[in-house]
Amino acid sequence: MDPEQIKKMVEEDYQKKLELARTEESYYPGKLQEFGLKNIDRFVKYNPNPSNYMKFGITFGHKDLEVVAEAMANNEPWAVVSGLNPSSPLHLGHKAVFDELLWFQEQGGADIFIPITNDETYVVGKSESLANARKMAYENIIPSIIAMGFNPEKTHIYVDSDYTEIYNVAMDISRKLTLNKLFGVFGWDHKEPTENPGKVFYMGAVQLAQILLPQYPEFGGPKPTIIPVGIDQHPYILLARDIAEKKGFIPPAEVNWKFLAGLDGKGKMSSSRDGSAIFLTDTPEIAEKKLKKAYTGGSISGDYQKEHGGIPEICPVYGIRMYHFEKDKNLESACKTGKLLCGACKQEAITQVKDWLADHQRKLPDAKKRIDDFLLKTPIRSIFE
Ligand code: SF4
Repeated sequence: MDPEQIKKMVEEDYQKKLELARTEESYYPGKLQEFGLKNIDRFVKYNPNPSNYMKFGITFGHKDLEVVAEAMANNEPWAVVSGLNPSSPLHLGHKAVFDELLWFQEQGGADIFIPITNDETYVVGKSESLANARKMAYENIIPSIIAMGFNPEKTHIYVDSDYTEIYNVAMDISRKLTLNKLFGVFGWDHKEPTENPGKVFYMGAVQLAQILLPQYPEFGGPKPTIIPVGIDQHPYILLARDIAEKKGFIPPAEVNWKFLAGLDGKGKMSSSRDGSAIFLTDTPEIAEKKLKKAYTGGSISGDYQKEHGGIPEICPVYGIRMYHFEKDKNLESACKTGKLLCGACKQEAITQVKDWLADHQRKLPDAKKRIDDFLLKTPIRSIFE
């Protein structure tokens, strides 16, 4: 290829990545505006100990975080709810959410509820059977969560199909909802979700039961509750707030997350795209191979990158390092000024990820023995009174 052609190709590739970064940068502020949510900056400025996720703008928005902050400051009870569906082992995107939950737990007072939604996994078709999703929960996901260091006295994990109390709570909540409201909030078109009534029941009632469960009398009654969510899950919080008011509960608050990019550069890290995710069960060697192949925000020419810098906003390697390992924002400037090139940056990421995985996996056998200490078993009887 002649040098002029190569120069043109390098420039076009860089411009394409810059354009992607601009779209990425405007997406989240646009969503805050659309949904009437607040930027996290003010909370970071006035809170003496914000999480790194908040400081780095990874947790970028919120609604009513002040209500939870007040409970934290006054040593009053508050709760955090964050669940996931067990369609695959946890990956680094999930780990970030659990790290933030740990930060919440360290602020004192918080009871953390972690529903593992194998019913959802099954009804939306992500698992061939409820049994498979249940097995994934107990053999893989729950031990990984425990190994991250949660306090068993303040952490309540449950698998939906085993903690069937949640379905009674869902029935209680369903009386406060209408199908029209559900369809409106989720933007459903009266076709796709009605093919599967289980999906409507799950999304319309069980999910909301999980969000509101900490406010039932069995857990001490109404209290500030915070839900860390991706911006796409905001409709659940809207619905939950509406029902909370009807039940005399405190409308749940939310903090909003930016998704961790997948290694393939094609959207968020996800178990459904091959090569997109690093799973917490990947051997360090597999993780290394995946990182070596990862897409980056760098240029296809090292000289060009030295001159123009990289584009960290769209770089999954940058995401992994900032979400999980960096303590300050120096990486951003090293990348943007071209002082750091992708080869060296990836090598550092490989070391960080391999060390973390090896340490995490060493803790799993012990975590497996402690599952029962974390399982929620509280009967919910107040709804029958
Ligand atoms: Fe990404 Fe690192 Fe390359 Fe910057 S130097 S684009 S952060 S891999």
